[in-house]
Amino acid sequence: MAEFAGPQLYSCYNCRNHVSLHDDIVSKAFQGRNGRAFLFSHAMNIIVGPKEDRHLMTGLHTVADISCADCHEMLGWKYERAYEASQKYKEGKFILEKSKIVKENYPGARVGHGKTWFNRDALLESMVKLYSIFRIIYIYI
Ligand SMILES: [Zn+2]
Repeated sequence: MAEFAGPQLYSCYNCRNHVSLHDDIVSKAFQGRNGRAFLFSHAMNIIVGPKEDRHLMTGLHTVADISCADCHEMLGWKYERAYEASQKYKEGKFILEKSKIVKENYPGARVGHGKTWFNRDALLESMVKLYSIFRIIYIYI
């Protein structure tokens, strides 16, 4: 049986603030301002800036820049609204530039720094996932 390695996290490259979970990656094939970028369904410990309309390669979008809640480094943007039907799936999701985040396994380099990945939303999500697993087991028993 495989050893439980803990959740894989992405942190701000500058201050190691935890900003997203590996499980929340929707796509790794996005283009950011500085090269490759990942699309995430959730992000945490970030500040969402004011909304503005931008013409991107895939059409007009309303986006908001996102920055690290700890060190205020700009990390990417949030898609608030997409106007093309084919781009609607991006609404409410987050772009994090690959060059601005670092991947780490928890527990890892951050142990002892006094921070934890258990924010309320992440905890709630894990509980929902656990609940659905137990529900499936229960049905099969
Ligand atoms: Zn930071």
